[in-house]
Amino acid sequence: MSVPEQARVVIIGGGIVGCSIAYHLAKIGWSDVVLMERKRLTSGTTWHAAGLIGQLRASANMTRLAKYTQELYVNLEAETGVQTGCRWVGSITLALTEARKEELLRQASMARAFGVEVHEISPKEVTEKYPHVKVDDITQAVFLPSDGQGDPANITQALAKGARLRGAKTLEGTKVTKIHKDRTRVTGVDWENEAGERGHTACEHVVIASGMWSREVGKMAGVNIPLHACEHFYIVTESIDNLGQLPVLRVPDECTYYKEDAGKILLGAFEPVAKPWGMNGIPESFEFDQLQEDFDHFEPILESAIERMPMMAEAGVHTFFNGPESFTPDDAYHLGLAPGSDNVWVAAGFNSIGIQSAGGAGMALAEWMNTGEKPSDLGDVDIGRMQPFQGNARYLHDRSIETLGLLYADHYPFRQKATARGIRRTPLHEHLLKAGGVMGEVAGWERANWFANEGQTPEYEYSWSRPNWFENNAAEHRAVRENVGLYDMTSFGKIRVEGRDAEAVMNKICGNDMSVPIGRIVYTQFLNSCGGIEADVTVTRLSETAYLVVTPAATRLADEMWIRRHADDANFVITDVTAGEGVIAVMGPKARDLMRLVSPDDWSNEAHPFGLARTIEIGYGLARAHRVSYVGELGWEVYVSSDMTAHVYETLVEAGADVGLKHVGLHAMDSLRIEKAFRHFGHDITCEDHVVDAGLSFAVKTAKPDFIGRDAVLQRKETGPKLRMLQFLLADAEPLLFHHEPILKDGAFVGYLSSGSYGHTLGGAIGLGYVPAELAKDTDGWEIEVAGARVAAEASLRPMYDAKSERMRS
Ligand SMILES: Cc1cc2nc3c(=O)[nH]c(=O)nc-3n(C[C@H](O)[C@H](O)[C@H](O)COP(=O)(O)OP(=O)(O)OC[C@H]3O[C@@H](n4cnc5c(N)ncnc54)[C@H](O)[C@@H]3O)c2cc1C
Repeated sequence: MSVPEQARVVIIGGGIVGCSIAYHLAKIGWSDVVLMERKRLTSGTTWHAAGLIGQLRASANMTRLAKYTQELYVNLEAETGVQTGCRWVGSITLALTEARKEELLRQASMARAFGVEVHEISPKEVTEKYPHVKVDDITQAVFLPSDGQGDPANITQALAKGARLRGAKTLEGTKVTKIHKDRTRVTGVDWENEAGERGHTACEHVVIASGMWSREVGKMAGVNIPLHACEHFYIVTESIDNLGQLPVLRVPDECTYYKEDAGKILLGAFEPVAKPWGMNGIPESFEFDQLQEDFDHFEPILESAIERMPMMAEAGVHTFFNGPESFTPDDAYHLGLAPGSDNVWVAAGFNSIGIQSAGGAGMALAEWMNTGEKPSDLGDVDIGRMQPFQGNARYLHDRSIETLGLLYADHYPFRQKATARGIRRTPLHEHLLKAGGVMGEVAGWERANWFANEGQTPEYEYSWSRPNWFENNAAEHRAVRENVGLYDMTSFGKIRVEGRDAEAVMNKICGNDMSVPIGRIVYTQFLNSCGGIEADVTVTRLSETAYLVVTPAATRLADEMWIRRHADDANFVITDVTAGEGVIAVMGPKARDLMRLVSPDDWSNEAHPFGLARTIEIGYGLARAHRVSYVGELGWEVYVSSDMTAHVYETLVEAGADVGLKHVGLHAMDSLRIEKAFRHFGHDITCEDHVVDAGLSFAVKTAKPDFIGRDAVLQRKETGPKLRMLQFLLADAEPLLFHHEPILKDGAFVGYLSSGSYGHTLGGAIGLGYVPAELAKDTDGWEIEVAGARVAAEASLRPMYDAKSERMRS
């Protein structure tokens, strides 16, 4: 087949992911879709996948996309005539510990809220479905009847055929060798085919769906795609007599999965310490290849499998398989528009769930490319979450040792990565450690999440029930409510937008009015054209021509990209100044007393009202004090250049001894903000949550002409919100909420919690979540499902803590 000189889109990679994107783009109606595959379709990682198709995932978005995949594959064979080998045999997952039981039950609750059929089953029911498995030590089992398994190569061929039937071209033996760019736009690709012919295809879009090659392919386009290959193992037994058709079986506590196929058992593993691969590059000849077997590495897995399923001892090993798969630093795949580019799209790094994710990922990316806006919240997987440093090869290598195993590890709340840590540290890092700070990591930043007491081991002990830091958190929480607390907010992203057109740019991008006096701090959202929330930030006007945008650590790059992409030809510059300034939050009713001890400035309400930033003297230095609060109390965020941050901290801590100042971690910041019903971007508010439904229309000024999302806001104000965000407090003080727990009204599922924590002031677990607007005013009949049990809850449209926000303005 000849290679076209022109295409609307060139997709690089003919694995299941590239073929799914081609299929979905063609289905939407895109013409001139060209997929280039350097060897044969499926010859990278896809051909040797085990083919498990499951829907139980760790987050709501992943579950939603996995469910779509399952539904797509059900009909693919009938649609294309290609046998996909899909059999909807169901799946069983076993828990062997109490912790895993809780995790499974919580996941099952979440899956149910998304319409995935899931049953908790007894050990007897397990053996009825899977007679060969030992169940005397299991603590829980769940069964998903609509899960299944398929033949990954055939599913890919079916997707490719479905794409071709709609006009797409899939070109095998055609390697992309160069990507041409004009500033931030790709203009075309150079290719070379197996006949030695070379050519150029001009295109409007490029999709990098090149599996474990994607980091290198990304470099051709100047984009950062952090991933690293690891060896992934399975064995296939010889035929076993009378095996019959069996569901897929997962025993995550033993790191194993089992698939029955044609009378044999395939046993695969996600072992805790993985083997990275491909450090010196992937051989050019790689095609339907496999890696060296490593029986010593696999032996412990096989031993536990024999214990679990004694028949495995009798069955000979027919195949020992070792194949490479790519893993990302946070175990979530990469999807979306690459930062720094206008038309390079990425779908790569599938962390061993590429078969069950490809349908949903392909659909979501195609819709995003078609409309220019995400079809749903893809924050978990949006490539914009990756920081530039995460492309570092040594970092990726060391992190990948951990990430493979995390797939089957306990997904405890607040679990932190153990590898490749300590990369980004604030100027207070050592001080905070000395004060007992226990670090967590976000976007590479080390952040004190809680403070250990003297004599207490400063380490997380993960748990689904009250963790070892529960009381520390309670004391920190109370310090902010009743006295004064200090926490380090340096990791929060700080973007300086400045230049002649800065005001016009900010007014176009922000829902709120940015034509404010110098020193004013504005709480605002970046909206998309549907009124969904793309960013939730505070913006401070620093001068006539300069603004400071403050945003969560993880979304700094994505927010910067959003501004750049929507600023047209405006005359302005954006600078990431995150590392240039430390930020120390001083919060609580005694914050004013403390500031008076360290600064000669006037700290009265008149001199420094809420919503104002001004330069202050503090200790021997200068800083900018911002009067805002994310915890609902009187307080200031002190922005100080990095060189003086430690000095200002020492000054505050020394003076703080007189007013009972306490170090506070970011877990307490979270429990305090949920108690005050402050929304958090990525959880409570995302691109698919309308700003009016989120209860944030007070921060949108529709009188202002011409900002992104204005029409959608006006429309929703007219029709009224579809959903409303409620705050919940459990009646029973014991159970804990994290997020994703289903919300029930009069016994029926009506939503799920977008965030959860413990309200140490309110006296029970608290959460936020959307419900249909017509139900929101009812105060009775609310329950939250926690690990399968329904717990009565109080619900409120207004914050249960300080509804009028008097405390932070006092
Ligand atoms: C042993 C094993 C078992 C697995 N089991 C499962 C499972 O049960 N369920 C599940 O969901 N997932 C499973 N996976 C994971 C799954 O196989 C992968 O996530 C998925 O195949 C990734 O697909 P892909 O399209 O991203 O990558 P690939 O299949 O690797 O496709 C990428 C393609 O890009 C091509 N390419 C690279 N560079 C270029 C270039 N310059 N020009 C043109 N083409 C290029 C490559 O040749 C390759 O064909 C398993 C993986 C392994 C290793």
